[in-house]
Amino acid sequence: MQDSEIYDILVIGSGPAGYTAAIYSARAGLKTLLIAGSTPGGQLMLTGLVENFPGFPEGVMGPDLMENMRQQVERMGVKIVYDDAEEVEFASYPKIVRTASETFASKAVIIATGASPRWLGLESEKRLIGRGVSSCATCDGPLFKGSKCAVVVGGGDSAMEYALYLSRLVEKVVVVHRRDKLRASKIMQERALSTPNIEFVWNSVVTEIIGATRVEGVKVLNRLTGEESVIPCNAVFVAIGHKPNTEIFRGKLELDEEGYVKIYNGLETSVRGVFAAGDVHDKRYRQAITAAGFGCMAAMEAIRFVEEGWPERLMEAKTNAKLGATQA
Ligand code: NAP
Repeated sequence: MQDSEIYDILVIGSGPAGYTAAIYSARAGLKTLLIAGSTPGGQLMLTGLVENFPGFPEGVMGPDLMENMRQQVERMGVKIVYDDAEEVEFASYPKIVRTASETFASKAVIIATGASPRWLGLESEKRLIGRGVSSCATCDGPLFKGSKCAVVVGGGDSAMEYALYLSRLVEKVVVVHRRDKLRASKIMQERALSTPNIEFVWNSVVTEIIGATRVEGVKVLNRLTGEESVIPCNAVFVAIGHKPNTEIFRGKLELDEEGYVKIYNGLETSVRGVFAAGDVHDKRYRQAITAAGFGCMAAMEAIRFVEEGWPERLMEAKTNAKLGATQA
């Protein structure tokens, strides 16, 4: 079904970047559509207490923060579609975005589809997801309260955060890291390294998660010595980074070698009138507050693009070029 409107700005994604972009666009008086996805809210829906988002002296629960943002967007009069964007056409005017059941047209698009957790890629991991294997300690950690041991895989801030969180719930946490140095920030490293019930297994990778119907342990390979060992545990939390959600944009705009959207001046992508905001292009900061900031910046650029009449001007230039080619 074709929505008959031509929107000024269409935002894809409902994390802090997408919601902020939609708020700015609607406040500027532009006709705004937000495709929120079938599971709206982004990564903060999987987060517990957020203490570093300004404005909440006591902190705020991730899902509450996102619900507040959603309500704010709704109050601005933005049309929200709770479905996944499945296909895009960016070469045309207006730009087209399709969900499973509807087609939308817009003068400008802001991509804010974020990133998803990476997995180890083991068959046993896939089989045991939701049965002791998880990518979110704050969501699933409480299920293992009182357990003997939880394994955390990774050496970044997420891994340290998970380990610290779990250390308050289970008897022992074992962090398995593939190198002998952590990637995490100094403060997170110090906190984890000085917590008595957090142990580290260095230079090692998990080769198998053991258990038929629930996690019973992990097989670990030491990359330096080739030695294999088993760590009995009740849960495995994988914290090895994220993958940008850019599959539907492949071939439609430039992505880097890891699949992140490449941006140029002012958060514009390689296609004029298509902007990107948040974790979908940013692998350096990846914070809720920076994503929101990027959402604001992308919206300001998109608003300028629309208000200065660039969609129509570019369309006209394209038509003239075509006519010129036909007449020549
Ligand atoms: P990250 O910084 O990319 O760290 C990923 C970790 O997983 C690295 O230690 C990496 O090892 C390891 N790894 C990657 N692929 C692996 C594989 N196939 N097998 C085993 N290990 C693998 O990701 P992150 O920890 O999710 O953090 C992402 C961003 O969010 C960072 O900018 C971080 O600062 C931020 N963050 C901040 C906080 C906080 O401030 N409280 C909390 C969470 C995240 P190598 O080190 O060997 O590459």
